[in-house]
Amino acid sequence: MGAGPVPIPYAVARANSVVINHLGETMDQVIERVKIMGQYAFQTKSDKIMGVAGPSSAAMEMGIANLLWPGKRALVLVNGTFSRRMGEMARAVGAEVVELDAGEVAPVNAQTVKELLGKQKFDLLTMVQGETSCGVLNRELPDIMKVAKEHGILTLVDAVCTLSTMPMKMDEWNIDVVITGGQKGISTIPGVSMIAFSGDAWEAIQERKAPMSHWCLDARRAYRFWGEHEYHYTAPVPGILAMHEALRLICEETLEKRFERHEISSLGLQEGVEAMGLKLFVPKDYRLNAVVAIALPEGVESSKVRSYMAKTFSVEISGAFGLNIIRVGQMGEQCRSHNLFKTLYAMGMSFRYAGYPVNLSEGMASLEKRLAGDNDHYVP
Ligand SMILES: *Cc1c(COP(=O)(O)O)cnc(C)c1O
Repeated sequence: MGAGPVPIPYAVARANSVVINHLGETMDQVIERVKIMGQYAFQTKSDKIMGVAGPSSAAMEMGIANLLWPGKRALVLVNGTFSRRMGEMARAVGAEVVELDAGEVAPVNAQTVKELLGKQKFDLLTMVQGETSCGVLNRELPDIMKVAKEHGILTLVDAVCTLSTMPMKMDEWNIDVVITGGQKGISTIPGVSMIAFSGDAWEAIQERKAPMSHWCLDARRAYRFWGEHEYHYTAPVPGILAMHEALRLICEETLEKRFERHEISSLGLQEGVEAMGLKLFVPKDYRLNAVVAIALPEGVESSKVRSYMAKTFSVEISGAFGLNIIRVGQMGEQCRSHNLFKTLYAMGMSFRYAGYPVNLSEGMASLEKRLAGDNDHYVP
């Protein structure tokens, strides 16, 4: 129940045990379906949608490395670890990078971006939709995309924890590159990711004259496999079959119902945590639902709570990189009532063990009220 990887459904696990010819006719069909179902998940009509053999960070690097090279300028909007990572990657391929840091636990402000774009020229703007490291949601993302387009700047959005957990409308919001991983919202195995390019982004890639430093992540080479069913490198066959199943489950559930399940599940957890007497780390206004950050009270040790939870209740949650918080994931299969009740109970008991009194029954009642209070909104 941490900030990823998340549990996977049985159909996904079963698909992950199968190897077939990566260039055979069955695989061709699988690839076509992954693309079509991917278009639904990303809400795009673009056919430049591909899988990536590697972590979400590889998909991120693929976006960055194909669109940036020496002489290009990137505006990197920073809220924490993952948004900052895009700046590191941009510098590594020789681009000039300007970072706009939203500051301590805050979303990026569209007006600030607008003012900066009025003064300086950039080729690419990067940002996260949800910053998993601290639990902040960039609510103003659609406005920021709009401003970037007005200035003719390409955009790259990290939707690793948010894709299929909340609205992400690639075409409607005019986003040029969207990346996501398997192990979070999509609820498949870690190590196989996805990326989608808009027509404008693809055109920039086609026109590129600068040499490409990354061979595996070269989008033009990758499209030989994802567009023409030809050899690039040996595809991670089981991982792609697993991605196929995960996407099929998303299509079956529908995005609307899936978003609703995630929202109710996460709100139930948040309300339960607060009713127990703990504090949420991020103000409601820009709190991310996909990863719930809980502030640690004075004197309570993160490792003590988490190791007791894991040993006694077999529930694992995450600590954080440098912040005094613990984090509970609310992505994909994590948003199921049995996981919620178990996690909240285990957490309450573990806080007590760590010497912090919580009101466990108030917390559980509050969760129950949200999940089962209205039959239409039942989270199975
Ligand atoms: C987890 C995460 C990543 C990195 O994913 P890896 O698979 O570890 O590379 C990037 N961005 C966000 C928003 C994430 O939550």
